[in-house]
Amino acid sequence: MMTKQEYLSSIDTLGHRVFVQGEEVDSVVRHPISKPAVMALAETYAQAEEERNRDLYTAASHLTGEPVNRFLHIHQSLDDLVRKIDMLRDMGRKTACCFQRCAGLDCINAVYSTTYDIDQECGTPYHQRFVEFLKYLQAGDLVPAACMTDAKGDRGLSPSDQEDPDQFLHIVEERGRGIVVRGAKLHITGGVNSHELIVMPTRSLAERDKAFAVAFAVPADTAGVTFIYGRQPSDTRRLEEGQADIGNVKYGGCEALVVFEDVFVPEERIFMKREYPFAGKLVELFAANHRASYGGCKVGVGDVLIGATAAIAEAQGTVKAAHCKDKLAEMILLNETLHAGALASAAKGHQTAVGSFSVNKLHANCCKLNITRFPYEIARLAQDIAGGLLVTMPSIKDLDNPRIGEYVRKYFVGRGGVESEKRMRILRLIENITMGTGAVSYLPESVHGAGSPQTQKVMISRLADLASNKAAAYRLCGIE
Ligand code: SF4
Ligand code: FE
Repeated sequence: MMTKQEYLSSIDTLGHRVFVQGEEVDSVVRHPISKPAVMALAETYAQAEEERNRDLYTAASHLTGEPVNRFLHIHQSLDDLVRKIDMLRDMGRKTACCFQRCAGLDCINAVYSTTYDIDQECGTPYHQRFVEFLKYLQAGDLVPAACMTDAKGDRGLSPSDQEDPDQFLHIVEERGRGIVVRGAKLHITGGVNSHELIVMPTRSLAERDKAFAVAFAVPADTAGVTFIYGRQPSDTRRLEEGQADIGNVKYGGCEALVVFEDVFVPEERIFMKREYPFAGKLVELFAANHRASYGGCKVGVGDVLIGATAAIAEAQGTVKAAHCKDKLAEMILLNETLHAGALASAAKGHQTAVGSFSVNKLHANCCKLNITRFPYEIARLAQDIAGGLLVTMPSIKDLDNPRIGEYVRKYFVGRGGVESEKRMRILRLIENITMGTGAVSYLPESVHGAGSPQTQKVMISRLADLASNKAAAYRLCGIE
């Protein structure tokens, strides 16, 4: 396995094409806007290096028996599914943001099982190809980014009816022993910090959409691939001297638009080519895995926010007030309910045809739908307890000004002499998670990541066993 340092230098020297706020950057590891995102992902390496974390952050590869980072593991049991959720919560607590490596984990598990299903029905060679690719990822301890969401153009039209076919990534031509693809993938978590990109279709497809039914992997530095980094609220605070007001002084999440301009994919890296009936199945499986993941990572961020809220209540002398205790208890209830949903999806998981394990889809979708709601309530309660100072206090930099520093120090001092700077730093962290760069991970990503709320409603309606519920009701009211 790679060390954190080895990972950082591997990304530093990757040579992929990345633009941040209108300019091409030499290194996402060193650029101040993107650095916190790289550091967050790097923590998945640092944690795996710790002896005490071995059970949580590493697993034995079912392909080679060698130890691998759990972020590259194909789940072999229900216990593996539970450990994944525990690991993601732990990472969320350590970073308070999206640490970006789990979309790849959920993707490799989905592709591993779906390629087997395609081969069974179509006699294709995809599964063995994918196994070889997986061995390569595991041996190098590489990060694959999951690339799913297309631009989609007019959402009322199917991919093949779009005026511009590039609105959905598609096969442009077959060339030699491979294919050429064109299109773009949006919101790609950790794309710029990844060594490899795994591309999947974005939705279920009909026969006339066959050219859009394509799954493959390419290295991030492949010719024709361009990353355009997403903006986040208050991201330019990272450019300020001393970075006093950034709130989370260590980490941040990131997403990017990834453009594929006539990219050649060699045969051995193709895992689906025009088998359109499997596009929807792959999407559904990836989505279920990833929806369960949110009951790990977002809960970990919730832990940090609850901790920061309790700390600010202490510093401000409100922690013993009955309403404050009640609000903190409510935040914990909401957060633990999210976690319980994810754990249920793992505990009630099942074995797939290829032998790996996957979550219970109904529980995973219910977990994720709650995640589109509860973090907003937790954030609201955090802001309620934090008070108006959260949005009106001066910059922490003002403490250093000889003419006004004393005023800020005097009037922002906390209960029992808690230093003003400490109080302000906690408030900045709450600001970061509920309104700043961290809020991207905690709030809108909770709504739209792994699929927007309506996609979960559709799945919940489809997966619920209404017929047997009705039968239970009929029986109990005496109707045969
Ligand atoms: Fe991982 Fe959560 Fe980020 Fe998805 S949103 S990649 S599950 S940290
Ligand atoms: Fe996400």
